[in-house]
This record gives sequence, C-alpha cells and structure tokens, in this order.
Amino acid sequence: MNIGVLALQGDVREHLSALAESDVLARPIRRPEELADVEALVIPGGESTAISNLAVSFGLLDPIRKRIADGMPVYGSCAGMIMLATTVLDGRPDQESFQGIEMTVRRNAFGRQVDSFEASVPIDDIAGGDFHAVFIRAPWVEQVGDDVRVLGRVKDGPRAGRIVAVRQGNLLATAFHPELTGDLRVHRYFVEMVRQAA
Ligand code: GLN
Repeated sequence: MNIGVLALQGDVREHLSALAESDVLARPIRRPEELADVEALVIPGGESTAISNLAVSFGLLDPIRKRIADGMPVYGSCAGMIMLATTVLDGRPDQESFQGIEMTVRRNAFGRQVDSFEASVPIDDIAGGDFHAVFIRAPWVEQVGDDVRVLGRVKDGPRAGRIVAVRQGNLLATAFHPELTGDLRVHRYFVEMVRQAA
C-alpha cells in the first residue's frame, strides 16, 4: 500500500510513525511527481496558512485538488481538516484549501483560553470506546453538506456537541491529533478506507 504524508509543514513524522505502526510504510510528499506515486494522502496538523502557502509554491495545490476530485482517499488532522474544507472561517484572506469535504470549519475555534485541551470523543464506525482526543488550537466544524457524515462530537464539558470528526466518501478529517497519542484506531480506519478504495 502506497500512502503519502504531505510534508510541507506540521507533524509529518508523527503521522509517518503512526502509519508505520499500522503496518504501512508511508512516505513524505513534497513534489507533484511524488504525489503521482501514491494512492492516498495524509495531511498533517500544523499551520494551515503555512501549508497553503507552501502548497502553492511547491506546485501541489492543483494536483492535490485534482487527485481529490478523482477520488483519492485523504485523511487530514487539525490543519489537515482545514485544508480539506470547502469553506474556512477566520482564515487568512489568501488562504487556499484543497477542497473536498463540503463543510464550513472555523479556525482556532475553541478560543484563546483553551488553546489546547483534551476531551472524550466517541467515533461512529470505530469500536473500542471513546477517543482521548488532544486539541491544539483546533478548528471545529460549523456546518456540513448533505453528503458529509458526522463521525464524532465532543462528548461533555462546555464544548459538548461540537463536531470534530467527519467523513465524506474517501475523505476523512479530525480536528484532534490521534498521531500524538499513540491510539492507532483512526489511522487503521483510514488504511482500511484506502484498502477498500483500491
Ligand atoms: N490553528 C492551526 C491552523 O489554523 C491548526 C492547529 C493544528 O493543526 N494543531 O492551521
């Protein structure tokens, strides 16, 4: 199986390790030629404005949009979720996205006081109990289109009910970072999506 991790900025290494632990030897992707060699892509957490700028300068914006439109499976965490959204609120005016998931996300939505926090998130389709989810200046999803399935919401506390995991066809996104907590279930779920798409 040939999975790439978009390696322009962000926690690339952590995704490569999580995939390796899920028995997939993934590779970092920085150039359009490298993208052409993979059947699926992970977009890491980091800073969506930086990923957007670099995607433009590395000539990856349009090739990735095209692969997504052609059905390539993609998983985005946090900044990666923002990069997959059709509409981004509180983004920089020149910020681009790869499009794909019909949703409106709000950047840094959980607010300054709670730049980082942890919460329980049950995820539809993934057995084994709630995720212990880590959020770092995370977005939330404010609105989804008819074809988007909401897979997970914050379970309790002041942010209960906020949408933080979604899927539309071959595209998967979480506002939290499973690559940082050693819980491999999201990566394994994505690997299974890639297998089924193949
Ligand atoms: N706040 C970042 C952004 O807007 C996302 C943070 C993250 O990926 N941990 O891209």
